[in-house]
Amino acid sequence: MQRITSIDEQRAWSRDRRAAGERIAVVPTMGALHEGHLSLIRLAREQADRVVVTIFLNPTQFDDPGDLDQYPTSLEDDLIACDQLDVDVVFTPERSAMYPSGYATFAEVVGPVNEVMCAVTRPGHFRGVTTVVLKLFHIVEPDCAVFGEKDLQQVLIIGRMIADLDLPIELVVGPTVREPDGLAMSSRNRRLGPEDRAAASAMPQGLVKASRAFADGEREPMELVNLVAEELLMHPGVDVDYAELIDPATFKPVGEQAQPGHVLAVAAFVGGVRLIDHIALGLQTIPGPATD
Ligand code: AMP
Repeated sequence: MQRITSIDEQRAWSRDRRAAGERIAVVPTMGALHEGHLSLIRLAREQADRVVVTIFLNPTQFDDPGDLDQYPTSLEDDLIACDQLDVDVVFTPERSAMYPSGYATFAEVVGPVNEVMCAVTRPGHFRGVTTVVLKLFHIVEPDCAVFGEKDLQQVLIIGRMIADLDLPIELVVGPTVREPDGLAMSSRNRRLGPEDRAAASAMPQGLVKASRAFADGEREPMELVNLVAEELLMHPGVDVDYAELIDPATFKPVGEQAQPGHVLAVAAFVGGVRLIDHIALGLQTIPGPATD
């Protein structure tokens, strides 16, 4: 496995591989790798001859500088994990190379997909995501890019960008990997203390409660949303950022009857750590969480 930090070197490596007729998959990450990331790397392996994992803690997608400062890092362990999975290149550019002094260009998807959920409560977040992902695409020149369904809105926004900008990149989406109690794995989970960790499991539990209520015939959007919010708010130190029922076809909040495929999405601060999760009603289940 090679570690590359130079943008020019990464581009030269990719061009050599493509000239040799090889297919390249990229897995963009911000590091502090966990089993969710590793599952995407395995998926990338199935898709291509060469796998490039990028590790870059992207400052432009953090609306809160404190959140960026506290974001966990574990580069040495990350490199070992990538090596064990036969990753070909780990690309770790310097922040000053990605955003040199005078940097002033951003890519932004506009419209309904960028007007709900995290786009509202984290202004500018997705602009930072699409900007860095577009830069990484230009540097790595992959044939396919693997992202996690856990960050559903991110995947939809990146898909929109790929389509709108005619990027010759196949978007591959991997399922959410969860802890045994149902909590979606996240680098941020490392920051949860023991009490916060217990409270965090209320997030999948609330989603499961709501999806069971939907299965039992509940169709009122507010009732379903409240089931998730109430489950979380039973715990002290939890602050619900949003809980919304969204129609993924229009990306508008569902006003009337909930239907199969509508997405119940939630974000909450648990002990100050921001966590997100979602479930597609009637289509998805979350294994693990015990509910009454
Ligand atoms: P991050 O390092 O948090 O920016 O995430 C890098 C990639 O890993 C993104 O495509 C995420 O959607 C994906 N990812 C994060 N957590 C999970 C998870 N629990 N299961 C599957 N993919 C995940």
